Amino acid sequence: MRTLSVPDEHLFGLHNLPYGVYSTADSAPRVAVRYGDHVIDLAVLLGDEDTFARGSLNTFMAQGHDRWVAVREAITRALRSEVPDEAVHALAEVTLHLPVEVADYVDFYASEHHASNLGRLFRPDNPSPLMPNWKHLPVGYHGRASSIVVSGTDIVRPSGQRKGPQDEAPVFGPSTRLDIEAEVGFVVGTGNTMGDQIGVGQAEEHLFGVVLFNDWSARDIQAWEYVPLGPNLGKSFASTISPWVVPMLALEGARVDTPTQDPRPMEYLRGGPSAGLDIDLEVSWNGQVVSRPPYREMYWSPAQMLAHLTVNGAPARTGDVFASGTVSGPAKEQRGAFIELTWGGAEPVTVAGEERTFLQDGDEVVLSATAPAPGGKRLGFGEARGTILPSRD
Ligand code: MN
Repeated sequence: MRTLSVPDEHLFGLHNLPYGVYSTADSAPRVAVRYGDHVIDLAVLLGDEDTFARGSLNTFMAQGHDRWVAVREAITRALRSEVPDEAVHALAEVTLHLPVEVADYVDFYASEHHASNLGRLFRPDNPSPLMPNWKHLPVGYHGRASSIVVSGTDIVRPSGQRKGPQDEAPVFGPSTRLDIEAEVGFVVGTGNTMGDQIGVGQAEEHLFGVVLFNDWSARDIQAWEYVPLGPNLGKSFASTISPWVVPMLALEGARVDTPTQDPRPMEYLRGGPSAGLDIDLEVSWNGQVVSRPPYREMYWSPAQMLAHLTVNGAPARTGDVFASGTVSGPAKEQRGAFIELTWGGAEPVTVAGEERTFLQDGDEVVLSATAPAPGGKRLGFGEARGTILPSRD
């Protein structure tokens, strides 16, 4: 047995305790909690092999909100006393895996600043950059769950059709406008029966936790394909998430009001917790920070997004992930996508001494974030990292 000591000000102190899935050279993937720079095996710590000696968090998440509260308390108690040596691994010595077996994936579009910027770039002739529905419902589309990968996974440049304004006919080839979207992803712990709804007041009891989410986007493929049914292959080739799922229970100190919603949302989108989140994101491109998107600016709350997802009776499921949409603030240096940061490629940025508009082969992007925690502390989300490999075409 041993006693672990992690300073209070550590981003992964007792106030955080995010969940993930790890393996070592001798073990299959198992559920763990991160404490400081230790990875703690939960099956060993809590003596529950059925729940935690598994390759994803899904079994645990399906046990529901009361159980998430009880387990978090049990972990906190256990870490304050002596911990079995065989439960403790050094972060640097383990492999981290995709923490969730992703069921369905939906991507929203909840930043007014991002939606307005993209409206101006994609539809310059429209009188208003926001579509008429945007302030009435959280706009979203169904994405591809199978290409959600864990931080550190290389991203192959996608190929597809595109038709630039100068092209007479569409052409096929590797994307020349490969981009990122810095987002926050929400993991659904428990769902609803088909035909029922999750009300905005109950939504947070269904939300297990939060990950960082990079929605890699091929803007040239997207621009040609997206009318009238929305994004498809321009997005579905890959999305990167952080390996640690920060529990909603750890984010009580990060609560903020959403911006004023005007017009007033419909009844089914009202009520419940005032539940914006004060998360500070950071986008690093080849080692240089190029943007600091503020999540507190997001127009729609996660509870509203989940309520909207199920208002038609569609069943959400354990392991569903929905992402917020690109997080962009009002200032240029707060834009969470390179198409906005470089204004469609017209205003290159200098990245580590080189001019960039969209991603080149070999480029690396890292999303990271922190949020306030009670007692003046901060908590970390880890990172979502990816490097672009050349096209295979
Ligand atoms: Mn997106």
